[in-house]
Amino acid sequence: MTLVAGVDIGSTTAKCILIENGEIVGKSLAPVGVELVKDAERALSQALTESGRERREVTVVTGTGYGRFKVAFGQFTVTEIGCHAKGAHFLFPGTRVVLDIGGQDTKAIKVDPRGEVVDFAMNDKCAAGTGRFLDVCAGALGYDVSEIGALSLGARHPVKVTNTCTVFAESEVTSYVARGKDPKDILAGLYGGIVSRSLSLMQRVGVEPEVTFTGGVSKNEGMVRTLEHRLVLKINVSPLSQYVGAIGAALYGLERVGGIPA
Ligand code: ADP
Repeated sequence: MTLVAGVDIGSTTAKCILIENGEIVGKSLAPVGVELVKDAERALSQALTESGRERREVTVVTGTGYGRFKVAFGQFTVTEIGCHAKGAHFLFPGTRVVLDIGGQDTKAIKVDPRGEVVDFAMNDKCAAGTGRFLDVCAGALGYDVSEIGALSLGARHPVKVTNTCTVFAESEVTSYVARGKDPKDILAGLYGGIVSRSLSLMQRVGVEPEVTFTGGVSKNEGMVRTLEHRLVLKINVSPLSQYVGAIGAALYGLERVGGIPA
């Protein structure tokens, strides 16, 4: 029995996944604060509590995410690119392209049939089209980001959001609200713009089925539907989509200690 942990310290959330005998047995998700070492420790202990396992039962801990070096108690660190590829392959073995939209960056990753990275393209220069961008725009509409996904469904006259910069897009959204535009149409306009930018990133690695959408933004139903509409393709989204990096990290650790990869 090998129990392994993957801890993903992202720009907005800390995630932990516990895998035992090829099965996910525990998980945790919480916002990150300023003390990332403590956030990482908390992520592991919450996942252990959920799973009913003890810290001493964990064979190996692997850190990933932009704060992966803060997983001070971990044995290994791996980049998010490799982890998203491996995690997506675990959940959807047919995955060939991963689109990961997290709090502050967007990645398109080409994956081989074994879940190894072939190529990737990344936008981490500005928050345009990321979770942070949507958090701010949701706020300008008077909603929490978790409420705005389904809200765009049924939009009839999507507006054109021309600004990609978060600050300018926020005031553009505010001015649409002031002009009495329907939030549905404003959101549809926002999603259309983000999906266009995501598609250009995906085209840099080559789009082919199956496409798996990961990261917190994949929980936004409006984004999923817009992406499917533009790709003319059904895409894979798991209820565990925000944990995909942590899943991949746990699997990397398992391989390093000679466990059976999933
Ligand atoms: P990171 O790894 O960079 O911390 P995540 O992959 O955890 O980022 O994604 C965080 C983003 O996911 C948030 O900024 C938010 O926009 C989005 N998000 C989180 N939960 C939801 C939800 N329930 N519905 C829609 N979007 C969500």
